[in-house]
Amino acid sequence: MNEIADPVVRVEQVRELAGDLVVIPDRRVPLVPNIGLVGGAEAVLVVDTGMGTENAETVLRFATEFARGRRLYVTSTHFHPEHAFGAHVFAGAATYLVNRAQAADLTHKGPGYLHMFTGLGEAVARRLAGVRLPAPDVVYDREHDLDLGGRVVRLRATGRAHSNGDQVVTVPDAGVMFTGDLVEAGQFAIFPWFPPHDTDVSGTRWLAVMARLAGQRPSVVVPGHGDIGDAGLLTDVHDYLAALRDETWRRRDSAMPEDTIVAEVRAAMLARHPDWEGREWIEHGVRCLCAEHA
Ligand SMILES: [Zn+2]
Repeated sequence: MNEIADPVVRVEQVRELAGDLVVIPDRRVPLVPNIGLVGGAEAVLVVDTGMGTENAETVLRFATEFARGRRLYVTSTHFHPEHAFGAHVFAGAATYLVNRAQAADLTHKGPGYLHMFTGLGEAVARRLAGVRLPAPDVVYDREHDLDLGGRVVRLRATGRAHSNGDQVVTVPDAGVMFTGDLVEAGQFAIFPWFPPHDTDVSGTRWLAVMARLAGQRPSVVVPGHGDIGDAGLLTDVHDYLAALRDETWRRRDSAMPEDTIVAEVRAAMLARHPDWEGREWIEHGVRCLCAEHA
């Protein structure tokens, strides 16, 4: 694997999406997520932490300034390292809340992902050195409405899709939706399909989740990675997943060897989205959907 650039969170080009609602953008740096801050009269919620202690300290510093004395909450869209492996830094300063499936992911899959990501190169290993896996302060089952004071934020577990514990955060008064890695902009959907270690990702369930989210018609969608957009981002991912499934299953029906399916579907998807990044994820997606073929 090529050496991955240092996934450093920089508080630059911060975008205000609505009053008291900003995003620290990923600047298209791999393994840096879009990070959200949502404020109400009494409290501020941080959505995703960046990877590692130093990045999360940067985010916490920014959040503390942004909050101006208001209480802090932090949540992660899912347990993957750049989204959640900084939450330990917020201990004592913020209340960390996640859904139950994600809390289980942190416990059961967290150590394996820490190990796997540390192997991605020196820059990532440095970011993850000394990281403690975070322990949530509050765990909810499916839904949690967080009252920040005059502004209620909806935390919703979607059920298994990109991971077991995916969570979507919406701010209804501003029409803003944070999706984590359920949605990327300008990038092929990330399928963490790594049998036998991790087979939680489900293309079919993900597709159903995307249909549901698109039905909510948010005006602003903040993807896990890539540029902020509108509800069109939701339909882009939905349509990609549908095409990936259909092209894969059509060939699977004819008992074509899996490697041939991968090659053909990959070519079809590249033709469909010649400008998208993350091409290596197409193969993982095809193999996942082969496994899900009835
Ligand atoms: Zn992820």
